Amino acid sequence: MNAYGFFLGALVGAMAAIISCTGPDQGGAANPPALSDLTREDSMRYNTLTPEEERVIVGKGTEMPFTGRYYDYKEDGTYVCKRCDAELFRSDDKFDSGTGWPSFDDAIPGAVRSVTDADGRRTEILCANCGAHLGHVFLNEGFTGKNTRYCVNSVSLDFDKKKEADRSATGKTEKAVFAGGCFWGVEYHFQKLDGVKAVISGYTGGNKANPTYREVSAGGTGHAEAVEVEYDPSAVSYETLARLFFEIHDPTQLNRQGPDMGTQYRSAVFYADEQQKAVAEKLIARLREKGYDVVTQVEPAGEFYPAEDYHQDYYDKTGHQPYCHVYQKRFG
Ligand SMILES: [Zn+2]
Repeated sequence: MNAYGFFLGALVGAMAAIISCTGPDQGGAANPPALSDLTREDSMRYNTLTPEEERVIVGKGTEMPFTGRYYDYKEDGTYVCKRCDAELFRSDDKFDSGTGWPSFDDAIPGAVRSVTDADGRRTEILCANCGAHLGHVFLNEGFTGKNTRYCVNSVSLDFDKKKEADRSATGKTEKAVFAGGCFWGVEYHFQKLDGVKAVISGYTGGNKANPTYREVSAGGTGHAEAVEVEYDPSAVSYETLARLFFEIHDPTQLNRQGPDMGTQYRSAVFYADEQQKAVAEKLIARLREKGYDVVTQVEPAGEFYPAEDYHQDYYDKTGHQPYCHVYQKRFG
């Protein structure tokens, strides 16, 4: 095929993507329900579905465009999974695509899983928590700066107006723990990020309770120098924090960071839940695609031991600049 033919083919493909959501399986009757993600026991834990919800969510069907409850819905809040109530999309990421289906240019980090559709061409999206069919995701259509359109069936969604309001009203914060070499420098960069309430330098990932700096430095406790970041999830996402982490230290250095050598200076993400883990793994995969030989370990968070007072806010106190943590754009 010559270049022009290829271009025409791509154009036709893009147009088909724009006008279809789950197109060919509309009606769904020909597709037997895919029960692989859903055992009988699971179905008892989840919300009861109407036959139409079942057809779309379990049978991977598609609602008729311009008929769903949310394609033209503009309230502020959070869209959750109809079957399991997991938070999936925020109203801030919703845009009007004109397709007749709710469209978002981003999902809540870790909330949505992408798989190749049964048609081998499109990318199906599923609730990461329960496997419910949501719709498809399309890239490079130029709708928004993110060039991504999560095309979702209204039937797969529920809307929670309160969730976002509750969160900012109660000032609820969450925690993220990262190890990327000498904690002074990592702390320095996180403290400057909007939405971050507090950053504590400390030790984690080892096997001794209440370790001292001297013990950790000697390398025998298994702990890494780390920071615990307390943040307001309504102001900054875990993904933003994790991206910054990968851009302020060198995730390709094994058991060292610049001049600091030893496992106490290893690169590691200590995740608090499956969503944090999924975000960390996604970002590592993205860096590997870009050619970075990432050695960062992804481990469940354990006990975090704050370091001695003189290590806290070290650069603020001394007025010095970090010696081995310089911001470097890696995600582009
Ligand atoms: Zn779900």
